Amino acid sequence: MSTSQANQNRFRADLREMKFLLFDQFRLGELLEKAPFEAWGVDEVAMTLDQTYKFCCDVLGPINAVGDRQGCKLENGKVITPEGFKEAYAQIYEAGVKGVGVDPEYGGQGAPQVLTILVEELICGANPAFVMYPGLARGVAEVIHIFGTARQKALYLNALYSGKWGGTMCLTEPHAGSDVGSARTSARHIEGNRYKIKGTKIFITGGDQDITENIIHLVLARIDNGPPGTKGLSLFIVPKVRTNEDGSLDKPNDVFVSAIEHKMGINGSATCVLNFGQENDDCIGELVGDVEHAGMAQMFKLMNGARILVGVQGVGVASTAYLNALEYARERLQGPSINHWKDPMAPRVAIIEHADVRRMLLEMKAKVEGIRALAIKLAWHSDMVHILKGKDDQAAQYHQGQVDLLVPLVKSYASDQAFRVCELAIQTYGGAGFTKDYPVEQSCRDAKIFSIYEGTNHIQAMDLVGRKLPQRGGQNLQEFLGDVGNFIQQHKNHPTLGACVAELAAAHEAVSGTAMRLLMWFQSGRMQMVPLAANRFLEMMSVLSVGWLLLQGAVIAGEKEAALPAEGSGPDRAFYKGKHHAAVYFAKHILPEVKSHADVLGREDRSALDIPNDAFATV
Ligand SMILES: Cc1cc2nc3c(=O)[nH]c(=O)nc-3n(C[C@H](O)[C@H](O)[C@H](O)COP(=O)(O)OP(=O)(O)OC[C@H]3O[C@@H](n4cnc5c(N)ncnc54)[C@H](O)[C@@H]3O)c2cc1C
Repeated sequence: MSTSQANQNRFRADLREMKFLLFDQFRLGELLEKAPFEAWGVDEVAMTLDQTYKFCCDVLGPINAVGDRQGCKLENGKVITPEGFKEAYAQIYEAGVKGVGVDPEYGGQGAPQVLTILVEELICGANPAFVMYPGLARGVAEVIHIFGTARQKALYLNALYSGKWGGTMCLTEPHAGSDVGSARTSARHIEGNRYKIKGTKIFITGGDQDITENIIHLVLARIDNGPPGTKGLSLFIVPKVRTNEDGSLDKPNDVFVSAIEHKMGINGSATCVLNFGQENDDCIGELVGDVEHAGMAQMFKLMNGARILVGVQGVGVASTAYLNALEYARERLQGPSINHWKDPMAPRVAIIEHADVRRMLLEMKAKVEGIRALAIKLAWHSDMVHILKGKDDQAAQYHQGQVDLLVPLVKSYASDQAFRVCELAIQTYGGAGFTKDYPVEQSCRDAKIFSIYEGTNHIQAMDLVGRKLPQRGGQNLQEFLGDVGNFIQQHKNHPTLGACVAELAAAHEAVSGTAMRLLMWFQSGRMQMVPLAANRFLEMMSVLSVGWLLLQGAVIAGEKEAALPAEGSGPDRAFYKGKHHAAVYFAKHILPEVKSHADVLGREDRSALDIPNDAFATV
């Protein structure tokens, strides 16, 4: 690939589909122009999406392949990011793109979450490696915003929200990955809420970079004599460069990068090994807020946001891979139509005419659009919490319950499927897709990490079955199933989608039955069956949700299409038909997998548990 090719924008997005979801399916208009979104009308929302898309095409897309090819370098103990990253970082704040969802008190625009999540999707789709730098600054700001002392807020928030300083989250250690509770980084009390931090963290995203003058590390560490496990961890603000009370920079804080990882994807994002206090025993951290041993709960705030962002990263990358594959399939000529398969003189057709390519394209379309709808649903519930809290606490509790339930689904299903969609995109291209001349091989490599970081997808599945299902005595799940059940009742006799709604009903029954089975395993002491089934159950719930939301969209699209004038509405008609066919495809090809998963789990097969360790291979 030549340099000029590497600098091309290959980012694609479907703004028509995003606007349909916002305005038609989730009826965002009903929430706008009143508290807390007084400043936002339909035009402002649409304009923000258009401008963000333009920004992504002009600024972030062109440095996506550059970041991948150059990667990050460690020179003289400092990380050098790829060409253009520093400038793009400045531009994203100047253009106000990162401030869309930020509290106006800190210079943001206070947009609804449903819009913020789409803005994030665009940024992620354009450049999934770059997005980590501003994303972490924002995440760290949110933790300090919620849990920090007044002094900490005054000192750090403006600098973090404005992007002047970067941020990191430091959990992982060489022996403490998924097992965060075994972290050994220590915190020795000095005075007040100041501690000396000592330890090594690995895999730290943005652990160092040459973009911002300072980096605020949020570090999980154990105060001397703290209880073992996650309950003994506290969270510390550890600046790379110490800060004076007026926000000016003091001296370096004994935080050193000893290595960076050389990775399969997101190469423009620096992943660092960080040593705290190991050179001079002089690394000073301050406790977030003034509560000891509350680190995991505080970090969870960041992690929940980050988990949603990872799911959205998945949708963004999968969406651009799909749209690139679609563009290629419309242009690439190969073979005659099946209708003329015996005629060697028949004209070559674009590969989009071939049934198997159409199948792949429709599968990608259905998954991308359905998972995007799921992410927006999560964001919509969180906007409703924001609107209702203090006014109707019972309703707010229902919406919060749905947020809690959907976070692991969005993180895991979106990330698993993103990788699969990218793989299908490569398959659609054929050999060209396997080369670096086209963007989908990078998308596929970039997408793999989404199922691993922020807690592997199995950790998410255990969070779903172990924590989220039992929450509020199982009420969150009951309310979720109730919402799907209402849709089924309302549309089971739909003239064109009735058969698909029947598939949804079968999936609904399979999820309810499997939830009961999980409970029975818990209660009868067959605990080992639960982790064995957890990932499959998460997938079942996700497929049910996505199938439901696609059908909901298709019902609305059908009504919109019926209301179109008979002539002159080509693109709109095509759009609504697309929504219909994607929903039907998902209902008939993917929803039935839910019942099949339930049947498999019903067999209670233990072979993965029973096989002796040495029987996996006798080598
Ligand atoms: C590019 C990148 C960026 C990252 N950024 C950050 C960051 O900014 N900050 C940070 O703190 N960390 C970060 N990480 C670390 C990341 O969160 C961990 O890699 C992840 O949590 C998994 O931990 P591990 O790699 O140690 O795998 P392990 O925990 O060793 O897991 C290996 C396998 O075992 C499974 N497993 C582990 N424990 C259990 C269990 N109890 N039950 C069942 N299965 C289990 C896992 O699901 C996985 O399949 C990053 C990692 C990468 C690769």
